[in-house]
Amino acid sequence: MKKIALKKGKENFLERKHPWIFSGALQTSTESIEDGELVELTDFKGEFCAIGFFQPGSIAVRILSFENRSIDQSFWNEKIKSAVALRRELGLMSKENNICRLVHGEGDELTGLIIDFYYGVAIIQAHAVGMYEHRMAICEALKKTLGSHLTAVYSKSKDTLPDRVEATDEYLFGECKTPHIAKEYGHSFSIDWTSGQKTGFFIDQRENRALLGSFSKGKKVLNTFCYSGGFSIYALANGAKEVHSIDSSEKAIELVNKNIELLEFEGMHKSIVADAVKYMNDLEEKFDVIILDPPAFAKHKNKRHQAIKAYTRLNANAIRQINSGGTIFTFSCSQVVDPYQFEKAVINAAIKVGRKVQILYHLHQPADHPISAFHPEGEYLKGLILKVS
Ligand code: SAH
Repeated sequence: MKKIALKKGKENFLERKHPWIFSGALQTSTESIEDGELVELTDFKGEFCAIGFFQPGSIAVRILSFENRSIDQSFWNEKIKSAVALRRELGLMSKENNICRLVHGEGDELTGLIIDFYYGVAIIQAHAVGMYEHRMAICEALKKTLGSHLTAVYSKSKDTLPDRVEATDEYLFGECKTPHIAKEYGHSFSIDWTSGQKTGFFIDQRENRALLGSFSKGKKVLNTFCYSGGFSIYALANGAKEVHSIDSSEKAIELVNKNIELLEFEGMHKSIVADAVKYMNDLEEKFDVIILDPPAFAKHKNKRHQAIKAYTRLNANAIRQINSGGTIFTFSCSQVVDPYQFEKAVINAAIKVGRKVQILYHLHQPADHPISAFHPEGEYLKGLILKVS
């Protein structure tokens, strides 16, 4: 394994156990090191510090181990076993609840790796070149840990790796016809990882969707940025009178319609392909419950200010328009906008509109999207439930 030395004093970073080493911290030239290659990080004197993947760019090394050990099959087996044990403990691999995030990158000490699980099918998504190169070992570890509970493993990393990498999206083990039906709290969802966004489903809203169910009985609900209609399904299943689902993607709306077909319900449902930002700006119809779950408005810090303004506008439109006594579920998945900044944006929206607004709940990403104490950047999803009078 090639060695990369850190500049003098930079080894202090390692005491904080942060899994990223930025290029500016390196003393050694990395010219002879390949994209995704495993490297040993040393301090300026050559003493061992950690093992990780090298990747040209701002995050130069992603750390896999702070111990001097080989990154062999048993390493992957141990990591996957511990990630799966947590999801089992959380009750996410049961008959009625079998959709979960099995590996959440840094939160599971596997920087650059996402694995989502849909009732027997694991989707591996690499965000680091080194992870992509180890996909077969990761697949073997999944087979070993999950045994007969695993029917297929699909690798989907084309969209998440740099363009220079020739990644193929394909099955690494078994095969599964899509759409595939999996269950979340007993609700069936039709999931297609081959053509859907991300790995096919927004698993991170599970607990918030369940909470929405308890606010839905007899209500008229507007679900904006709905993707495959997760919130709509919970609303209808819990007795909503009428639900409107809006997404700008036609494909997403097709998924909503498929999921609606899987559900028995009495209320009314309407699917709408539209720009939800514009739709909320022009909204005249009245609703009792509004869900605002837009894609990340800011992907970089330099867009944060603009994003905060956009959250304020979007939330102001919902607060202005909702029926008295209405409930708003509002979210931000922009990692660069922290929970406090998001809450401020919503409070500013309330001030702008001038109605009485109470914050009932602070919402987060669920426990199968854990945040490592050494990588607080892993926190990205935040939300609020508002009561408006
Ligand atoms: N709430 C969803 C996840 C939302 S993800 C769930 O529970 O599954 C964000 C969604 O916003 C995506 O489906 C994307 O297609 C959609 N989207 C992005 N820009 C949009 C826009 N301007 N108007 C409407 N939908 C948009």
